[in-house]
Amino acid sequence: MKTTLITGINGQDGSYLAEYLLSLGYTVIGLLRRSSSPNLKRIGKVIDKITLEYGDLLDEVSLQRIFKKYPIDEVYNLAAQSFVGLSWEQPIYTSDVNAMGTLKLLEVIRTTSPKTKFYQASTSEMFGMVQEVPQNENTPFYPRSPYGVSKLYAHWMSVNYRESYNIFACSGILFNHESPRRGNEFVTKKIINAIKKNEILRLGNIYSKRDWGYAQEYVEVMYKMLQQNTPEDFVIATGETHTIKEFVETAFAFTGEEIHFEGKDLDEKGYTKSGRLVLEIDQQFYRPAEVNLLVGDASKAKRLLNWEPKVKFNELIEIMMKSDE
Ligand code: NDP
Ligand code: GDP
Repeated sequence: MKTTLITGINGQDGSYLAEYLLSLGYTVIGLLRRSSSPNLKRIGKVIDKITLEYGDLLDEVSLQRIFKKYPIDEVYNLAAQSFVGLSWEQPIYTSDVNAMGTLKLLEVIRTTSPKTKFYQASTSEMFGMVQEVPQNENTPFYPRSPYGVSKLYAHWMSVNYRESYNIFACSGILFNHESPRRGNEFVTKKIINAIKKNEILRLGNIYSKRDWGYAQEYVEVMYKMLQQNTPEDFVIATGETHTIKEFVETAFAFTGEEIHFEGKDLDEKGYTKSGRLVLEIDQQFYRPAEVNLLVGDASKAKRLLNWEPKVKFNELIEIMMKSDE
């Protein structure tokens, strides 16, 4: 039976990955930051089957302690300050956690447990101002936010620890993936929540395009990457891209109402058929720099990992609209 350490276990992906690895018979250890109020909701289903260890990516002594205590076969490094918008408000903190935190973890592995396999949660945000469409493993990077830059540092460190020290390190370059467990500040969850609560939706740029997949499927491919004979990096995506505006329209359709837009750009207003105002464009949600178009080519994952996504845009929205989570 294998033992895994999941950093970010109580996040969206960590919670699905914990469920998945438990179903495969793993012993699951989760790294948890101490919080003054409960933050275990996402792992409620599995809380009795996992072991939580207090620690923080910023505190390598806490990581060393965990590596001393358990024989860890695989680490999934999902912990991060994961919200792009906040990364302009807290660029240093974002870099400390996402970049230096990952380096600290890699150093602990290199010095105390070099046979441990390592998964790094890389991101399509590293492509930023995209240099080609669609983006694959060979597309040059051009990050457009402190988040993207911090993740690119961690990505290249993972590659370097693989090449320099023979650490079995894989980076999954995952495009946006959502679920009912997505953080409330991300645009998909924000849209779904507002529609469900009948609240006015206040959004920034509704013309950027994202390749949205389903988080529950995406965590399975993280596992698959670490079961290969040789460590490699993979793009994980659906290959479809849609605007935020399309997401709003499609989610609304599930309520039986349609949304109509009038005016353009900053004056854009969204009304339902019955004339109710449901969307307002709000300057505060615009970003200093935008990633306009993300669409991934996951053919390498299909070829080598026999993985492809089943849930696409409409079904993803349906799952999110219908969930009680
Ligand atoms: P979440 O924001 O839902 O989860 C982040 C997790 O990291 C939480 O458990 C959080 O704990 C933990 N964390 C944050 N800072 C620290 C720290 N200093 N030490 C220890 N733990 C910490 O993210 P997702 O599950 O959506 O994403 C998982 C990973 O994948 C992230 O690295 C993200 O950047 C990356 N990614 C996500 C994509 C997506 O579309 N979801 C796309 C591509 C990459 P706490 O509850 O205490 O805050
Ligand atoms: P990201 O791709 O990781 O940045 O995921 P987000 O869900 O945070 O943002 C996706 C896109 O939605 C970006 O282009 C944002 O600029 C755009 N967007 C428009 N309005 C909002 C909003 O109110 N909140 C968020 N989070 N994003 C918004």
